[in-house]
Amino acid sequence: MEFKNLILFFLEALVYFAFMVTLLHQRHRIGIGVFITALGVMHFLETYLAAVFYVQLPFGVLSPGSSILFSGKLMMILLLYLKEDAGIVRAPIYGLLAGNFLTVILAIVLQYHETVSVVPGRVVDLSFIDEMGWLMLWGTTLLYIDALAIILIYERLGRPKRLPIWPRLFISGAIVLTFDQVGFFTVLHILNDAPMSVLWGGWIAKMLATVVFATLTTCYLGLARISAIPVSSRPIADIFNDLTFRERYEDLLDRSGRDALTGLLDRSRLEYEGPRLLQACVTAGSVTSLMVVDADHFKTINDDFGHLAGDQVLRAVAATLQQGVRTGDRVYRFGGEEFVVLCEGLAHGEAVARAEQIRRSVEEQIVRPDGRPVTVSIGVSSSEHDGATLIALLSAADLRLYAAKRGGRNRVIGREVSDADVRTVDDFA
Ligand code: GH3
Ligand code: MG
Ligand code: MG
Repeated sequence: MEFKNLILFFLEALVYFAFMVTLLHQRHRIGIGVFITALGVMHFLETYLAAVFYVQLPFGVLSPGSSILFSGKLMMILLLYLKEDAGIVRAPIYGLLAGNFLTVILAIVLQYHETVSVVPGRVVDLSFIDEMGWLMLWGTTLLYIDALAIILIYERLGRPKRLPIWPRLFISGAIVLTFDQVGFFTVLHILNDAPMSVLWGGWIAKMLATVVFATLTTCYLGLARISAIPVSSRPIADIFNDLTFRERYEDLLDRSGRDALTGLLDRSRLEYEGPRLLQACVTAGSVTSLMVVDADHFKTINDDFGHLAGDQVLRAVAATLQQGVRTGDRVYRFGGEEFVVLCEGLAHGEAVARAEQIRRSVEEQIVRPDGRPVTVSIGVSSSEHDGATLIALLSAADLRLYAAKRGGRNRVIGREVSDADVRTVDDFA
């Protein structure tokens, strides 16, 4: 029976090592997180084994079932450090510490549940939770020290004279695991009256595990160096790749063509979308209206209160515009303090009415730093009268905007009124 247990221990070490090293070796393809997460998940089994699982080994040695996994974990941390660097290995060291503390805290709370027996014949086994007390906190702290120590000792053994890899691995593992065993046993002895045989048995098992893992690790490092185990740097193609790529691409598309200050669509977007939208509108036989919105005396806001205050007002105007239009209408920052709105399927009269609402909202809601209202002038054009090209709509609306400025600002001018006004403007010009 004792020898069977010993063989099973070897088998466990082999499976654990082969599995974890594969994850580590493939880290450039699958991501380092897979290895680190697997390392963390193993902690659950380890804790369970440490609490209730003891096995008889040859020569009267009694060992906790967790010896192999615990030693393996430290060796994996060291291996991660060797393959990467201190910055990377910091993640599992702190992660294990944090996760273990959280487990202990939650286990303490869990004890206060009134549980219900649902599966016949099975009662809740609280012995696992019982172990989660000061002993676990102590074990967790020891693990943190172990993880740092195994790396430091390994480094120390490389100087001044470089020891071969196997003794370096074995000695650093042996020192740390001896320290861990003594530290853990002392508290176990004080709290639970554990007999000396537990100290001895656990230590033998950990030393045995260290021999096995040091040997396996040396083999792996040797093979990896002569590239006997190939590794591809090409990331593995899976669903997540497509997802992240698509999201980034769409995000990029969405951000390009947006104005950084106001978040509105920008002029390049208008020049790209406008003609297409109007073409579709002609095909469908519907009407599109366009507004050109310009802040009145905006320069004085900049001059009197600074550029940042001016920016603030521009943002507020942009937001009011966005709120004032229908869903589906397109609002662009055309340049400086000028905005363009494209309204598909909106007849001229309705567009003028909506522009009037927007003008009023700006006047009522936006104030300059001195409390005086901010106002806008708006020129409106529509494809039914002014032509179904972007250029035609823009120039008609721009002429009416000019007329609105001439007429005293803070007003909307559409087709009927504007034509007369434009003539007047031309006459004066
Ligand atoms: P009007 O009523 O005739 O439109 O007068 P105005 O002062 O608004 O017209 P003008 O075109 O002379 O001034 C526009 C000003 O807008 C000048 C420019 O410094 C300012 N401006 C343009 N872009 C920005 C910007 O991004 N931020 C700020 N703060 N100011 C800007
Ligand atoms: Mg202006
Ligand atoms: Mg302007």
